[in-house]
Amino acid sequence: MSDRSDDAESDVSHEADAPREADAADRHFETRAIHAGQEPDPETGALMTPIHANSTYQQDAPGEHRGYEYSRTGNPTRTDLEANLASLESGSHARCFASGMAAINTVLNLLESGDHVVAGDDVYGGTHRILTQVYEQYDIETSFVDTTDHDAVRDAVREGTELVWVETPTNPLMNVNDIGALAEIAHANDALCAVDNTFATPYLQRPLEHGADIVSQSLTKYLGGHSDTIGGALIVDDDDLDERLGFYQNSVGATPGPFDSFLVLRGTKTLSVRMERHCENAMELAEWLEDHDDVSRVYYPGLESHPDHELAAEQMDAFGGMLSFEFDGTLDQASTVVSETEVFTLAESLGGVESLIEQPAAMTHAAIPREERLAAGLTDGLIRVSVGIEHVDDMKADLQRAFDAALA
Ligand SMILES: *Cc1c(COP(=O)(O)O)cnc(C)c1O
Repeated sequence: MSDRSDDAESDVSHEADAPREADAADRHFETRAIHAGQEPDPETGALMTPIHANSTYQQDAPGEHRGYEYSRTGNPTRTDLEANLASLESGSHARCFASGMAAINTVLNLLESGDHVVAGDDVYGGTHRILTQVYEQYDIETSFVDTTDHDAVRDAVREGTELVWVETPTNPLMNVNDIGALAEIAHANDALCAVDNTFATPYLQRPLEHGADIVSQSLTKYLGGHSDTIGGALIVDDDDLDERLGFYQNSVGATPGPFDSFLVLRGTKTLSVRMERHCENAMELAEWLEDHDDVSRVYYPGLESHPDHELAAEQMDAFGGMLSFEFDGTLDQASTVVSETEVFTLAESLGGVESLIEQPAAMTHAAIPREERLAAGLTDGLIRVSVGIEHVDDMKADLQRAFDAALA
């Protein structure tokens, strides 16, 4: 590659970015999950993308290299993962990061002092923290609103609003936001619409197809899928936007190593079969909980009782593996439930093959004052589960035993 401009580091173009047969967009998701961005090694025939544990690359003459100069800027294992994720999210480009938060930070790097952000009032805690505790000090203000209320979003958008940040389904009450409608509101004000697609995954929902400009993923969750790595990604369908994000990816340097990239690439191959089972188990568990005497409410977009069920059915291909429910008991009794389960491991995070359980009021949302927490629907007995791919009967038996222990 000899057309090296002065800031070539910011607009790296890898030979590996050239369209490949394996990326054929007309193939089905399941096929692209396994083949997009990945071809047998031309030298050895090795099927799997190698872990390119490597910091730098030999050049034939200054600036004359084979697409790679330095692994912060580009690493072949990461390139394959990026091509894979771009295909799955129906985008043209993906950029990978050392964590979901590093990916989110990179979107915020696009903003300037004086800019304004509109975000959901129930966004991921880390997103709320970076917007308020990091970016406010640079005079970038965020209005947090109920993004299911489009009038409220329209009212919050003002001159200087450059970004509308959407999460759907949200945590822990599984509210579903209308991506197309929110993207339209953003675009009417020349703002970007970014969607955190971590809970749904591209197997169930592809925000770029609904008009979003940027998709953000915590690869730590379903895409990695095995609770063994931390990672993030941004996916876009626009060359200029990708270039701008690439500049910050390389300048800030929170990029994933090749082993982490490999683990996620390994994860995406089975995403479709894992998600099928996650969804099937979650639906059955949600119905069982809804009929249960010790449970007063279930939050799962697949249930007809969920206020956003119809929107979810339109926007998503299925309803995902995350659900919350209100255990009919005190804060302490709900704490006993989550401590007693064995199939469900008491832990934060989500999206792995194993089932996890947590109590927002005592864990992820404990910092919110009780009155405020209750007003937001986060009751003492609220329990969130990440439904794994174990046998659903074992999950029911596990919860029943924990309910009995809590109420004994
Ligand atoms: C976990 C998570 C993040 C942050 O990702 P990390 O990989 O933990 O940095 C962002 N958004 C959502 C919805 C998440 O669940």
